[in-house]
Formats: sequence, structure tokens, C-alpha cells
Amino acid sequence: MDYLTDEKTQWIADEIAALKAQGLYNTIRTIDSPMDGHIVVNDQPVLNFCANNYLGLANHPRLKEAAKRAIDQYGIGPGAVRTIAGTMSLHVRLEQRLAEFKHAEAVITLQSGFTANLATIPALVGKGDVIFSDQLNHASIIDGCRLSRATIVSYEHNNVDDLQRKIAETTEYNRRLIVSDGVFSMDGDIAPLPDLLKVAQEHSILLMVDDAHGEGVLGRGGRGIVDHFGLHGQVDVEVGTMSKAFGVVGGIVAGKQVIIDWLRQRGRPFLFSSAMTVPDVAACLEAVDMLESSDELVTRLWANANLMKQEMKRLGFDIGSSETPIIPVMLGEAPLAQEFSKQLLANGVFAMAIGYPTVAKGKARIRVMNTAAHSQSDLEQALAAFEKVGKQLGVLS
Ligand SMILES: *Cc1c(COP(=O)(O)O)cnc(C)c1O
Repeated sequence: MDYLTDEKTQWIADEIAALKAQGLYNTIRTIDSPMDGHIVVNDQPVLNFCANNYLGLANHPRLKEAAKRAIDQYGIGPGAVRTIAGTMSLHVRLEQRLAEFKHAEAVITLQSGFTANLATIPALVGKGDVIFSDQLNHASIIDGCRLSRATIVSYEHNNVDDLQRKIAETTEYNRRLIVSDGVFSMDGDIAPLPDLLKVAQEHSILLMVDDAHGEGVLGRGGRGIVDHFGLHGQVDVEVGTMSKAFGVVGGIVAGKQVIIDWLRQRGRPFLFSSAMTVPDVAACLEAVDMLESSDELVTRLWANANLMKQEMKRLGFDIGSSETPIIPVMLGEAPLAQEFSKQLLANGVFAMAIGYPTVAKGKARIRVMNTAAHSQSDLEQALAAFEKVGKQLGVLS
């Protein structure tokens, strides 16, 4: 596209042209169907391996019904921020149900996982304080850390020895916080939470985990990373999202009552941005009910993911070190990953190429997101397409 530019904006057009030349420009596809295992992209029906819709709830009849019923009772919007216009009983109930589900003392919900991090981190630490942050933490954690104005010390990915070293070296501080993703979304590996907890307890440092990709995936019936490791009541703050496995939208902060109460006083996105909408909250409540009553969807998710991993490896792909339903198919250079994704789409499989800056340069990949919404024959069809494209592009011999 040729942009209409002037002196002030020409540099932006140049940057965009450079992104395109490097194969790093995001092309956003238009979806003409509900988000599900099968979707319609540019009028073409395809198998979907891009969404974080782990449990297939984004288009689930029970969630849709719950949202419609709630609209009839409560309308759509919350009207203003909760501290000003009051809070609907629906939001209060969701927070109580989430706390019960996760065996946490208390929960506060926000508009998204991103804002949950922006609310939480600056409420816990500020100028003169220090944050120890995993080097591969999600952008929203990084932005939360920056907003706090605390000193940020990043430690090597999942390396508790390096964390210990950094803690020992950092002597000028007031308060301290350790923060890590629970599941790292680009590689699918899991943070060593019991070890992080040990270090946090030893030095009396606040511990926060962002379980966006563990919510609905890890732990008994999808109760998340704290449940996965049996650490209830010990991790100070657990951030999560309802935009992934829950299939809706909304941020969660679970943890000690004192911290949750503090966030209602000092979490800026809570104080200065409106709450989740009524249909969102009702759909999330229904998702919690479904997860509490059956682990069928979580079990199917893992069975699908395990089969895909096994078969991808058998075909000869490098699938990294994932411990979760996220499968990174490692390809190296970004243009190859983009071409691979394009060819997959031509073969009826929608799977996204991911490159710099989301992952490091030279570590471009196709990220395969497995869900409970796929059938056995969907998986077989996807694997056949991966094999065909892999051979076409010389990734497989
Ligand atoms: C996806 C993600 C978020 C953002 O969640 P949203 O609800 O989509 O804003 C935050 N943290 C991590 C680790 C994530 O993977």
C-alpha cells in the first residue's frame, strides 16, 4: 500500500516498508465465523490452530445462552468504573466463584489480563523498590513493571540460580517482587513455581505468577498453575485471563484478601476504566460452572495436544521444549515461517507464523495452539498438511 505521508509521518511509512521487507509485518486475517476449531478465513473454511480458545468455549452454546439471559436481566454495559457507579451483583458473584474455583482467599476481575498486570504490579511496588522478572515474561508484565517505576532486574529464563544471584547482588531497595509467567506462551514451558516460591520465602519477597496460559489448562479441572503444583495460599498473587481457555475476555487477580482489597483501592485500571460487560461476566460464570462440574474438556485438550506432539516429532519437526498444549514448530528465519503459514492456509490449516519481536531473531516458528474443539480427523488433516508443506519447503527431508 502507498501511504499518503508528509514530513512528519514519512518515517512511519519507511518503518512499515522495512517490516514488510523482513517478513515481520503482521497481516491480520478477517474471520467470517465464530471462533472455533473450524473457522472461515477470507471465505475459505479452514482448521483453526491459532486461537487460545483451549477448551472450545468461545462459541459454546451454554456460554452463549448464559450471556443472552444476563443481557435480558442486566443489560449490556456497567455504566462507569465500579468505584463510582457501583458494581453489579453479577461481577461480585464471578469474583466469589473464581476464588472458590481456584481455592484463593479472594479475586478481583479486570477488563483483561493485560490490564490485570498493569493494575497489580504498580500497586505492589514503586520507586525505590525492585522487581525480579523472568527474561521471557509477557509484554503486559514488562509494561506493568515499567509503569511501577521500580528497578527491573531480569533473570535468565526459568533459571532459579540466576535469580538467587541477582537477589544477592541487589542490595539497594525498599520492597521486592518476583514475577514470572506461569506458562510461557511462545515455547509452552512452565515456570518452576515451587523453586521460585522457596526463594521468595527464604528472602521474604512477594511472589506473583501470571497464569494466562495455565488458566483452564493446568491443574485439576483447569484450576491453574498454583493447583498444578499444590501451592494454594502460598503464592501471593496469581494473575490470569478469561480470554484464553475461558473463551471470553477479562482479567483475574487471585490471592490474599489484603492484596485484593488493596487493588480495589490502588489498581489504576480498576479505578479509572470500566468493568467487564454483562454478557462477558455471565459467560465467564458459566465457564466456571462447567469446569467445576466436569474435567471432560480439559482431558480432551490434553489428549489432543499429546497426540499432536507425538506425531509432529515422528514427522521430524523440531517442537522445542513445550510441557503444555502449545506446540512451537521451530523454523528459524521469519520469512520461512511466514511462507510456511501461507502454504498451510492454502492447504486448509490456519496456524500463525511468529517472529521478532514476539520471539528472538532467528527463532521464528509456527505456533500450533491445540484445543478441545478439534476432532481426531481434524488432527490427522492438520498433520497431513504440515507434512506436505514441510517437504515442499525443505524443512522435512
Ligand atoms: C495473553 C496474556 C495476557 C493478556 O491477556 P488478555 O486477557 O488477552 O489481555 C497477559 N499475560 C500473559 C502471560 C498472556 O499470555
